Amino acid sequence: MLHEIYNLFFPRLCLGCGCPLNECEEFLCEHCKFDLPFTNYHSVRDNPVEQCFWGKVPVERATSMLYYHKKGIVQSVIHSLKYRQCPEVGNYLGVMAAHCCGDFFCGMDYLMPVPLHKKKIRQRGYNQSHRIAEGIASVAGIAISEDLKRVVYTATQTHKDKFERYENTLHSFCLENPQIYDGKHILLIDDVLTTGSTLESCVRAVLQVQPNVRISVFTLGYAK
Ligand SMILES: [Zn+2]
Repeated sequence: MLHEIYNLFFPRLCLGCGCPLNECEEFLCEHCKFDLPFTNYHSVRDNPVEQCFWGKVPVERATSMLYYHKKGIVQSVIHSLKYRQCPEVGNYLGVMAAHCCGDFFCGMDYLMPVPLHKKKIRQRGYNQSHRIAEGIASVAGIAISEDLKRVVYTATQTHKDKFERYENTLHSFCLENPQIYDGKHILLIDDVLTTGSTLESCVRAVLQVQPNVRISVFTLGYAK
């Protein structure tokens, strides 16, 4: 009863379309959930996400769960995760990923969220990629590693071209305790794959201190 009164005054709204959610729905209404544009790349070898890294860095497997279109459901959900203080959306989507891309996570030893700089963490209060990793970990039972650190603060990059963005993120990560990862399979986790340059820098940073490691990539959205 109290719950119903609360909902009357503070209705929970769908992050996709803004309509009120019923009791069984979480973050997305049934319609928006049904309309989510799944890539199914996790079961496709040489998929476009893997191709993104070809000729740049060695990546074992790579996938994104959803297509990310401007003004689409996925953009508004990820926007809520990043800018509207809804960290739980990350956990929700991580759990969804673990269920729908299950096999992809088999054999991974560590989930490694792409780190934010401390300054960004202070602004936002959380790392969205870490929240996604928590969601995956809660289902797949894989340990989360926090040893990948960001060492240079990168200001907002939206006005820079691809090359400048790459230059800007180069050498901005480092892996602590590299000995732990000897012979292991690491899964890097990020929210959206655009140019892939951030993830590329992460792969380089890991390999620089621990060459005996396999690295895969998972992102929620694929913006190509
Ligand atoms: Zn909706």
